Amino acid sequence: MKRKLYLLGIDGLSFQYIKDHLEDLPNFKELFELGNCKGLDSVFPPDSIPAWIAIFTSLLPAEHGVLDSIDYLVENNNQKIPSLEAFKGKTFWDVLSARNKRVCIINPFLAFPVWDVNGFFVNGSVFTKDRKIDANDRELLRRYPLPTLGGLTTFPKKTELPKFIYDSYRETKALSDYSEQLHNYDDYDLFFVSYFTMDRFQHFLWRYSDDEDMTHPKNNHHISSILDFYKFYDEIVGNIKSSLKDGEAFVVISDHGHGRRCTHVLNINEVLRKKGLYFVDTKKIKIFDKKYLIERLKNITMEIVFKYNLEDIFYILAKRIPNRKAIKKGEHLKSSKNIAEACNMFGTNPFGGIRINKENIPPDRAYEAVRDDVIKLFSSYTHNDKRIFKWIRKREDVCSGRNIGKFADILFEMNSDYGVNWAVFTKEIGFNTTHKKISGGHEFVGCFFTYNLEKRYFDRVESVNDIYNLVINCLDS
Ligand SMILES: [Zn+2]
Repeated sequence: MKRKLYLLGIDGLSFQYIKDHLEDLPNFKELFELGNCKGLDSVFPPDSIPAWIAIFTSLLPAEHGVLDSIDYLVENNNQKIPSLEAFKGKTFWDVLSARNKRVCIINPFLAFPVWDVNGFFVNGSVFTKDRKIDANDRELLRRYPLPTLGGLTTFPKKTELPKFIYDSYRETKALSDYSEQLHNYDDYDLFFVSYFTMDRFQHFLWRYSDDEDMTHPKNNHHISSILDFYKFYDEIVGNIKSSLKDGEAFVVISDHGHGRRCTHVLNINEVLRKKGLYFVDTKKIKIFDKKYLIERLKNITMEIVFKYNLEDIFYILAKRIPNRKAIKKGEHLKSSKNIAEACNMFGTNPFGGIRINKENIPPDRAYEAVRDDVIKLFSSYTHNDKRIFKWIRKREDVCSGRNIGKFADILFEMNSDYGVNWAVFTKEIGFNTTHKKISGGHEFVGCFFTYNLEKRYFDRVESVNDIYNLVINCLDS
């Protein structure tokens, strides 16, 4: 019998959360009982963009070089869309197309505009409000009502959460109906569809569902929202399982996990400043200095916003602050003398990096000695008598590839309660003042579930970049 594969990608589906709620998730539970479930390691950093590109191409970020992360605090992201060149023509569906396998590809992350394949490829535009949809087969595109594809723009205020929840269900259901129609329409060797509502849902609703979150609102209406959404996905998984065709294997993956986002931050540049490695040129009397005043004002404002639940009004007003993103990440303080500084490529997450500026190291000190000192400084850093770094290493000890230079000189992961922040002239450890807006955050371990697939394929998969070979090998027979 000819083998086929149904690959289901669910952005941000958490292995740990499913494991902890199996009794409520009968279809996931059945997969667990069949023994075909394990965690799937993401990439460093565990963000959707680098991770999905690793899934599509098997290339790790230090090789493919696309490290951008999505900043949910920037509404209607007119943010940089990574170039397609990192993966267009190099994905598993391109390889299979070239080998005359028929593919149906729906909604893969960032792959827009679509390109030609042997079969059907449909997707929507990325990060824009005026959504466009494109497919390689216009005839088939007109055949069924289209769901929302591509796009990532929602940034709900607290009062908009009921609508956000409603829209998340509606979008998910529409994509599930659309996939079912296309799955029945024709026979494909590879059927690949990706969903993105789960990740967004958890980013915005986590604290409402998690009563151990320090910002959890008591007696709120959304207490079961995350579990209910997992149940909804569980049903989708059940429907797909019962609609599989003869010889069709089923694989569920996620690009990273999800959990409570950090509630505290470490102001890395403040620690470095006190050690004489980070500098802010201010006037002698600091309170007459504009940079100093902006930084103090920012820190005090954010603490007040956090303390008095002023997030929704603050983020509306903040749109009028020029350079607010640069100010958040301390770029208005930038001096050309810094020896070390917190990398600002990733968001306020436990994962991050520290750049060492070789040109600013005094002649009597060596680069490696400075790097070692900074690693030592943070690896022994404690808060409430506990170390907060899980690991901190030279970048060469974490990754390799032709784009390794895009990573900071030092990379690290903190305990999940702590994230990176860039503030100075303030306490080293503070609250994560954006936590109430975005209370769910990415975890390193995503999901890998298989059904109707030989164990030897299952055993060969450990991390997201193994999916490429899994798909090609299992359809190559
Ligand atoms: Zn993701």
